[in-house]
Amino acid sequence: MSISSLTEADRKHLIHPVVNYRAHEARGVTLLESAHGSFVRDAEGNELLDAFAGLWCVNVGYGQESIVEAACAQMRKLPYATGYFHFGSEPAIELAAQLVERTPASLQHVYFTLGGSDAVDSAVRFITHYFNAIGQPAKKQFISLARGYHGSSSFGAGLTALPAFHRNFDLPLPQQHYIASPYAYRSNFDDDAALIAASVAALEAKVAELGAARVAAFFCEPIQGSGGVIVPPVGWLKAMRDACRKLGILFVADEVITGFGRTGPLFACEAEGVEPDLMTVAKGLTSGYAPMGAVLISDEVYRGIADGSPDAAIGHGYTYSAHPVSAAIALEVMRLYHEGGLLANAAALGPRFAQGLDALLEHPLVGDSRHRGFLGALELVADKDTKAGFDAALKLPDRIAAAAYRNGLIFRAFGDNILGFAPALSYTAGEFDLLFERLRRTLDDAL
Ligand code: PLP
Repeated sequence: MSISSLTEADRKHLIHPVVNYRAHEARGVTLLESAHGSFVRDAEGNELLDAFAGLWCVNVGYGQESIVEAACAQMRKLPYATGYFHFGSEPAIELAAQLVERTPASLQHVYFTLGGSDAVDSAVRFITHYFNAIGQPAKKQFISLARGYHGSSSFGAGLTALPAFHRNFDLPLPQQHYIASPYAYRSNFDDDAALIAASVAALEAKVAELGAARVAAFFCEPIQGSGGVIVPPVGWLKAMRDACRKLGILFVADEVITGFGRTGPLFACEAEGVEPDLMTVAKGLTSGYAPMGAVLISDEVYRGIADGSPDAAIGHGYTYSAHPVSAAIALEVMRLYHEGGLLANAAALGPRFAQGLDALLEHPLVGDSRHRGFLGALELVADKDTKAGFDAALKLPDRIAAAAYRNGLIFRAFGDNILGFAPALSYTAGEFDLLFERLRRTLDDAL
């Protein structure tokens, strides 16, 4: 099909996630055609440096031949095996064992999903089942963070605390509650310790308000992604985990973005020695080469469910759970992180990424630079002293991202003055130079 007929067919038939449908019809699709390493090529032949790893998922970079080989080999041998009933396949079992070995010690059991939204939804279903099975059926209230993102399932979109995911969807549900985001730049705390203490106090207060006997779990991202890359101080995650233990509620770490080397270690929980009760992962698990996610569960929660329903099948399943091709891809992706040297590359070049972002603090438009590992953001301000943002109607981040595209650079704009970056862990020093050269030029043009 020609570009114009593809554009026309897209406009007529394809519904895109998270756009305004009428605005998309008017604008038309941006057709991406191929990709290699850190670069994608669009249908018009433009070569773009991808500073967002697709949708913060292509952690290994594009065009990794060994992944293609692993997928083809698995497709030839066994393209599908149901995980239903008592069937299984070698790559899925091997991957489950590897994940348990490489995630915090508390997590002993893995349930595979198709992505992050259904990993979150599965976590909620397991938690609900667990409390019913252990005779605490009153525990049905869920707490998450303002600005949090936990996917688009009917329940997960309510744990998500971003207005576009609630508006006209009749969310949040009555059992969904929020506490403030640990947003240092827009908070008035003297230091990190005060911010951490305030988050813990907010959680305690919310649990007291709802009644501890009614609260099931607290969900959080170790670093909030879609809410604007909110990087809490070191110690925050551990403090929230410890608070949950004291309050008698489950702690769920949503590592869909922060997992698989994005923030330095394989998982953000690792950096603070945090052992969650449940953890959700996706994105970097297969690095976007095929859909797959997982929820990891502590032995205590698993035993509660298993022993609490001795005779009946536990009715939670997806046709494509533990898909052998996705699992084979994930195994090769894991090899690339470790033996392939990608975690080591990210550790070596993390400071280069941080310096590049921090250097832009001198730019007249930039009020805040925040980052950990290969995850970062710049926050734009109209006034650096008052931190006043630009009028949302200006859509400055969107306009800057569009200008960046014309300068050969892709990153993500967040509505409220934030530019987000998540380069592949395979980035080279030269690619970072190019990223910051193109970004600075784009910001200068926007002045
Ligand atoms: N949880 C977090 C923290 C995410 O960032 C995302 C997606 O961006 C999800 C869940 C949902 O994952 P998916 O888009 O694979 O359904």
